[in-house]
Amino acid sequence: MRTAVVVGAGVGGLAAAGALARAGWKVTLLERDDRLRPGRAALVLWPNGIRALRALGLAGGLDGISTPVPPAGIRRPDGTWLVQPGAADLESPPVVVHREDLHDAFIAGLGEQVDVRGGIEVQSARVRRDRPAVGDGRVTFEADLVVAADGPDSAIRRRLAAASTFASAGFAAWRAVIPWYRAPELPSGTAPHGETLGEGRRFAFASLGERGSAGGSTRGGIYWVATVPGALRPEPAAGQLTLLRRWFAGWHAPVVQLLAATEADDLVQEPVGELAPLPETFGVPAGPGGYALVGDAAHVMPHHLAQGASLALEDVATLQTVLVSGALGPALQEYNRLRRARILRVLQHSHKAAAVLQMRGRLASSLARVNPRTLERAAAAATEWAGPTG
Ligand SMILES: Cc1cc2nc3c(=O)[nH]c(=O)nc-3n(C[C@H](O)[C@H](O)[C@H](O)COP(=O)(O)OP(=O)(O)OC[C@H]3O[C@@H](n4cnc5c(N)ncnc54)[C@H](O)[C@@H]3O)c2cc1C
Repeated sequence: MRTAVVVGAGVGGLAAAGALARAGWKVTLLERDDRLRPGRAALVLWPNGIRALRALGLAGGLDGISTPVPPAGIRRPDGTWLVQPGAADLESPPVVVHREDLHDAFIAGLGEQVDVRGGIEVQSARVRRDRPAVGDGRVTFEADLVVAADGPDSAIRRRLAAASTFASAGFAAWRAVIPWYRAPELPSGTAPHGETLGEGRRFAFASLGERGSAGGSTRGGIYWVATVPGALRPEPAAGQLTLLRRWFAGWHAPVVQLLAATEADDLVQEPVGELAPLPETFGVPAGPGGYALVGDAAHVMPHHLAQGASLALEDVATLQTVLVSGALGPALQEYNRLRRARILRVLQHSHKAAAVLQMRGRLASSLARVNPRTLERAAAAATEWAGPTG
């Protein structure tokens, strides 16, 4: 039986561990946290991510836990339209899903076959003629295949692609879900989701289901994400919230109201950036086996296109397909060929989107140089993924 060690139990790692186990591999899943916890807040999944979920056999319950977010245009801080809502050329709209619900679906997909080990922080990776092996300084885990799904600060990537480091894009981001019981009413006639751009700042929100649909659970509510130029803030969460309210003061409803209803414990602050340079390869042979980098470990990028989780799922669906063929070396080469080209294309569009989002001052309102529809075009282009074989 072929063996795999998957490092990291985020979207990419959970999906990879389940896919390999279902394909008959003996899988060990290592996570540095003591237990498997969902990431906080919510995620937008684009049609490419949903296609990847389908390829992985995990899309079954998605309708029940997700809410469609069809294009709703982009506003200026005073509420006037920067981009009128229009029919974007998408086969189906993206959906927003609470991360806890997605996490539960992935845990169910692990089945009984995966040996889950919490509290293991991988620090080393062996790349020699022997089989791949990773360790936390106390225990070594050897396998035919190691899947590095250990996120943006991947310890395995540091060993395999030392030149690739996280470079800040000059923004910090915050996400939160305000549970329904304290979420403000949206002004009548307002879509249940929307996006506003101004002075290099961005605020987007989306309702998770209908008001009251989550009962007493905190999974339903209004999700928002805010992006602001500058570095991560060192203040405690309450101080960050005060700053956010100041930065977005005077923005049209419901931006101010959503920030007023947010509590410090709801906030998740995250850096925004990408790997520079991109790793030369996402598939590294080691002896008779090898390593596959997936998700943010391979290609963390700014969330402007909200594609990170969808791309991680594409990675895993592609890995699942190429591994069917047998020999690991050629399979990893094929994985790299398919994924690196795809990621470079998405990065190009991400840079175009960044050019719009980074417009500040006069340029932001004159729109003389960059059409904000670039964002919609970039989003549409990023969803063009034909499936695991390209
Ligand atoms: C503000 C913001 C908004 C975003 N919005 C969206 C969106 O709407 N849609 C979308 O698709 N994407 C979005 N993203 C991106 C998305 O969150 C990530 O791309 C996605 O979560 C990456 O998943 P992952 O499994 O690769 O990594 P992660 O989710 O980071 O998981 C990595 C896991 O590995 C574990 N780990 C780390 N190091 C080690 C180690 N050394 N040993 C063992 N375990 C380890 C971690 O504890 C974690 O469990 C957003 C990102 C940001 C910052």
